Amino acid sequence: MPSPIGHALAGAAVVWTADALDRRQSGPALLATAAVLAAAPDLDLLVPRFHRTATHSLMAVLLVFMIAAAVTGRVTRWRIASICAAAYASHLLLDWLGADQFVPAGIQLLWPFEPQFFISGWDVFEQTERRHLFVKATIHQNLHAVAREVVIVAPVAAALWLVRVKALSRFSSKVARGHHAAK
Ligand SMILES: [Zn+2]
Repeated sequence: MPSPIGHALAGAAVVWTADALDRRQSGPALLATAAVLAAAPDLDLLVPRFHRTATHSLMAVLLVFMIAAAVTGRVTRWRIASICAAAYASHLLLDWLGADQFVPAGIQLLWPFEPQFFISGWDVFEQTERRHLFVKATIHQNLHAVAREVVIVAPVAAALWLVRVKALSRFSSKVARGHHAAK
């Protein structure tokens, strides 16, 4: 399963995708929130018995959507709630794509309705070790896993960022042209 670094990058990529799609520029606060939300499901590591269960489910994604909608102002409510939920959901996607040596492998996507764990088996991302963090073998394993995550996720995130920049600049020049025409 990926590290918080890979997850946070994916969260940022979600915001840039939304910006490119609806030609709106999200601020740094939303970017930071999405990055944190994308890494947040692993807070369940504090209670190892529950790791990859409730917080790694579609129910949790729905909960994030509802909470974000409740605390956000009316004008941007659905946009921000959707971005927050999608950022959170990106964690589930990355975990599903990653390797998992712990049995049962994968995430309990349909908690609390189905006890089944889901995983793609593609091992796109390497296993990260969250125990004995300062042992040499752990450091080596995690550095390797993080390097692989960055190599895979960073180009995708960078491409989305570029698409966003292009979409926003095209949109603003269109607005400017419209402004001139109106005059
Ligand atoms: Zn996870």
